[in-house]
Amino acid sequence: MSEKPLLRFPGMATSDRPFLVIWEVTQACDLACSHCRASAMPEAHPLTLNGQQGRSLIEQVRDFGPPYPLLVFTGGDPFKRTDLLELVGYARSLGLSPAISPSATPLLTRERLEALRDAGARVASLSLDGSTAEVHDSFRGVAGTFERTLEGCATVRDLGMKLQINSTVSRHNMHDLPELAALVYRQRVMTWSVFFLVATGRAQSDQALSPAELEAVMHWLAEVSSRIPLKTTEGHHYKRVLLMRRTLQAHGYQAETYFQLHPLQQQLQQKWRELCRDQDIQPRPAARRLPMHINSGDGFVFVSHLGEVFPSGFLPLRAGNVKTQSLVDVYRNSPLFGSLRDPDRLKGRCGSCEFRQICGGSRSRAFAMSGDELAEDPSCSYQPGSFKLADPLARDSSRNASASAARARR
Ligand code: SF4
Repeated sequence: MSEKPLLRFPGMATSDRPFLVIWEVTQACDLACSHCRASAMPEAHPLTLNGQQGRSLIEQVRDFGPPYPLLVFTGGDPFKRTDLLELVGYARSLGLSPAISPSATPLLTRERLEALRDAGARVASLSLDGSTAEVHDSFRGVAGTFERTLEGCATVRDLGMKLQINSTVSRHNMHDLPELAALVYRQRVMTWSVFFLVATGRAQSDQALSPAELEAVMHWLAEVSSRIPLKTTEGHHYKRVLLMRRTLQAHGYQAETYFQLHPLQQQLQQKWRELCRDQDIQPRPAARRLPMHINSGDGFVFVSHLGEVFPSGFLPLRAGNVKTQSLVDVYRNSPLFGSLRDPDRLKGRCGSCEFRQICGGSRSRAFAMSGDELAEDPSCSYQPGSFKLADPLARDSSRNASASAARARR
């Protein structure tokens, strides 16, 4: 068994502070994406946090103390806020690392991105859901978004900012994934964030992949990860897939032949290998980005445009509001967040799973499908205890968890 770490853990106790704070600065957006979490509207809500309340929130993020959480300005479309530059600059002046997640609308211009960079934003993330205008624009609801997104990617790189591409996997684009990955590779991304649909906002559950298809995509992503630095969002059992593959490899097995994977895995793999050969897509030593062990309310917090505090943007259970409460207090002491941070409170298969300490499943999807945020993640096909080589794997998982706990104590 390899002694190399298999996962990354935040360098702090996630019960004390989040690794990532996502602030939805506005719900306003000029796109109409079919899977929009925010159910975005053209105009901002009248009770959206104003500039003063926004600065107060930024100070509350600072109050977690160093190492500070990463602060992502998202929406809606953050460019719909006229005081965005000021807020980003204020976050930077307090020592935070602001990142920006704009929509691909006519507001996404070089001038605006340059001003944001100068105000202190070092990272920009853009959404790309298909390898062609046909696939992407039909998903995003506005023609021309595909071209505008690629122009935005080029500008972000040209300005010396780090680029993250976010892609939502659904039935709409699952057969386009290899071509999409090839396009992402050419964008020279810092991270490809692969999001697995949760039926909330405008997203419909009939667009979600079956558990077997999702497992197939994750095994394919494990292969892609040698060429593209990637992470999954609301796809926590990707960590289980990586651990199982590493264990199988150590025992001389191939995951693709050991498991009875859905035929989608073969289709994706074959197409991807053809593209790698034809487009000279090479492995990159720095590409294999270890997955970060964070989950809803555990290393992660979402603040809505109205100031409401949620464990995730996809888990609509409100724990407080920064207009009247301290974000630090809500994050550390809310019973909801506390329960989400305790893997022993998980139910169903997640509750009896040997991977629950490092996976825990998507709490957002569990809630969306059952109304219980602690229920099993219905998108995972794993039957706890069924992996025959689980013993060494469990030792490896606990070694990772112990190392994390030791780091958090320091
Ligand atoms: S059963 Fe739950 S905890 Fe276990 S791997 Fe699946 S999602 Fe993760």
